[in-house]
Amino acid sequence: MSATVRFAPSPTGHIHIGNARTALINWLEAVRTDGTFLLRFDDTDKERSRPEFAEAIETDLRWLGIAPHRTIRQSERLATYDAAAEKLKAAGLVYPCYETPEELERRRRLRRAQGKPPVYDRAALKLTDAERTALEADGRKPHWRFLLPNYDGDPAEIARRDIAWDDLCRGPQSVDIGSLSDPVLIREDGSYLYTLPSIVDDIDCGVTEVLRGDDHITNTAVQLCLFEALGADPPRFGHHNLLTTASGEGLSKRLGSLSVGALRDAGYEPLAIAAHAVLIGTSHAVAPVASLNELAGMFDLKGISRAPARFDPEELKSLNARMLHGLDYEDVTDRLAILGVAGGEDFWEAVRGNLEVFADVADWWQVVDGDIDPVVAEEDRPFMADALDLLPDEPWDETTWKAWTSALKEKTGRKGKQLFMPLRLALTGLDHGPELARLLPFIGRRRTMSRLGGPA
Ligand code: GLU
Repeated sequence: MSATVRFAPSPTGHIHIGNARTALINWLEAVRTDGTFLLRFDDTDKERSRPEFAEAIETDLRWLGIAPHRTIRQSERLATYDAAAEKLKAAGLVYPCYETPEELERRRRLRRAQGKPPVYDRAALKLTDAERTALEADGRKPHWRFLLPNYDGDPAEIARRDIAWDDLCRGPQSVDIGSLSDPVLIREDGSYLYTLPSIVDDIDCGVTEVLRGDDHITNTAVQLCLFEALGADPPRFGHHNLLTTASGEGLSKRLGSLSVGALRDAGYEPLAIAAHAVLIGTSHAVAPVASLNELAGMFDLKGISRAPARFDPEELKSLNARMLHGLDYEDVTDRLAILGVAGGEDFWEAVRGNLEVFADVADWWQVVDGDIDPVVAEEDRPFMADALDLLPDEPWDETTWKAWTSALKEKTGRKGKQLFMPLRLALTGLDHGPELARLLPFIGRRRTMSRLGGPA
């Protein structure tokens, strides 16, 4: 069955790799089922939501390969939420409350002292019309709570009630809503918290699967009650484990270096980020993939483990490198042209195994085609002179290096590292890098001579 899924960020900051995990899991489900992916901005918080964050999120998603079929903004749908809220108010399922945060805190303390769970006691339900009018005349504005169906007969007698569902990721789940306070749906200033708008949108948009982090498990129980209150069939829910930093802390939107934008700027491949974000904390090994379609084919919601998954930037680095090492010349031709890297397929194959990020290829091109600072130790000068003497004539190919260094070995008696390292340092200015046999034809005779200290 084609799934309709949604990714619902609040545009109050940039998305990080953990948010990307949620977005990608939804996207892969849409791809796998030939379904629909909605991007929904949960932007009812006027103070903190910013259009530039929404724009940045769209850019980040596009860069990751996610192309939403539809984008909606909750701030543009307030009338729809008002209609749903009216319906619930008329049914007595949403009720006005006037307590201040201090009053609530006092009452919570009291309940704790009485050995009762510190949930909201529904005192506002008992207010008479006259009392409400008096409070409002006093300047108090109501916030509105949803009456959870956790009572038999008298709402003041809160009872255990388990809300159960078969989670798409975690299997059978259940939450006792008797241990929860009636959630506030509408703030004093009339603005909506995300809970009700989310349900109204899921219903209106025909969402069939809600896939999100396991920090929403309790919300799901509440939301299932809201679907019922609104007379709608709920979608199926799946809760994936969350990513933490390598040291086990939660990722927060403010964690700059793990934002998708920062990872892009650091040069990571979008597909490496996608594979890493999706596969860590699952039964699959984190390994390179050729496309999001391939990832969609192997990914399985039930394969996500329950424990949090640790995101280690070093592992991403290594996956990124492995991904680059497997790219064929045809995959990168345009990108090489943009970086001004000539050298064709032979050059790409010579250096790809040494790349950590794609931009490194331009550095290696500079090494063979540009100016470098050759490193020649004083005691190696005579060796360089021999190397110059024995330099073969052009044309050069990949056999030139062997012919040259064999002659040099014979003449000087040097071998192994003693033979090769001074040449590498002189020819590249570096003590590591791709095989010199493959680089040498690109460096060419003229540059080689100058780098060995010969006439320029
Ligand atoms: N805006 C909510 C969040 O970012 C959406 C949660 C959901 O997917 O329902 O946590």
